[in-house]
Amino acid sequence: MQEVTSSTLVFSTEALTRGLFYLWRMDRKWLYGLTLRQLSETVASLGLPAFTARQIASWIYNKGVAQIEAMTDISLRGRELLGRDHCVGRTAPSAVETSVDGTKKYLFRTSGGNHIETAYITDGDRATLCVSSQCGCRMGCRFCMTARGGFGGNLSAGEILNQIRSIPESDALTNVVYMGMGEPLDNLDAVLASLEVLTSDWGYGWSPTRITVSTIGVLPVLNRLLDDSRAHVAVSLHNPFPDQRASVMPVEKVWPVAEVVRLLRRYDFSHQRRISFEYIMFEGFNDSPAHIRELARLLDGLKCRINLIRFHAIPDSPFVSPSPERMVAFRDALTAKGIITTIRASCGEDIRAACGLLSIRQAVGYGLSAPNRP
Ligand code: SF4
Repeated sequence: MQEVTSSTLVFSTEALTRGLFYLWRMDRKWLYGLTLRQLSETVASLGLPAFTARQIASWIYNKGVAQIEAMTDISLRGRELLGRDHCVGRTAPSAVETSVDGTKKYLFRTSGGNHIETAYITDGDRATLCVSSQCGCRMGCRFCMTARGGFGGNLSAGEILNQIRSIPESDALTNVVYMGMGEPLDNLDAVLASLEVLTSDWGYGWSPTRITVSTIGVLPVLNRLLDDSRAHVAVSLHNPFPDQRASVMPVEKVWPVAEVVRLLRRYDFSHQRRISFEYIMFEGFNDSPAHIRELARLLDGLKCRINLIRFHAIPDSPFVSPSPERMVAFRDALTAKGIITTIRASCGEDIRAACGLLSIRQAVGYGLSAPNRP
């Protein structure tokens, strides 16, 4: 992995070797990221004993081996059969940038030949990884750098988990948030599979309370996320008025946030599971007393919290963030209405790792490659 100190990263012999190894592996399917059921299907298709699935899960998730040959309690014949079409599949990040505040941004190459970014953020005892679920995004939010780069394809469950387990700080992580590049519910099968691996006893055994999945509210599948996982959910709200929200988030015209909230009211968030609403603040657009009143009306009676986020400027955007004082006043006004409201700290803005700044375009900036389109 290379430390990026400027935007003109030069290819090295190591990078070339890694690239060739990568190409060799591209025609093999990853075992990494498969659920126990999928591993069972794989071993059954190869005529291997059913218990081999648990053996593989233990090797790749518990012991962290990188090679099928290292799975020594699987017969030699079994390993040969597995190795014909499969590989374990983990990849190391190809570059890292470090912010003045300690935030790190990792660059990973995807199976489609594109790149994704992942942000590692520390805050006191917490070490959070913000993972990407897609290469780019199709949702077109007007304040988001990821949207500007277009869409370069879905990530597999293995590619999502790989971000978590392949960074040097992996064992120190306390939390994972699916808030990087992409809309997780636009790639729900892979996201759910990654959550299953992360939280199952045969996988990494994490508590779901350490995981938050963010969404702009993809109504047709939101219930699947709520039913099939126990992770916290964060809904990107940003404006309670439909017309205003639609002007920056096209999704509002298809799946209005009022209907998202209506669906959320059917679920119980009074125990361990948390629902929160993300609210990026834009001066003069969503920071008035009318917005406070409408937020209180929209969320009335729902056990939730609001996270206020300072807008991080992107090129050619008309928006600016309100002053810190105005954000504090907005927070206090919502709190007075009975909604738990916090201001989320901004981290990694200088390396474009902060909320809304991750981008496949920056892979070009690293000097690695231009994005491919599917
Ligand atoms: S804010 Fe999220 S959903 Fe909207 S374009 Fe950016 S990555 Fe996609």
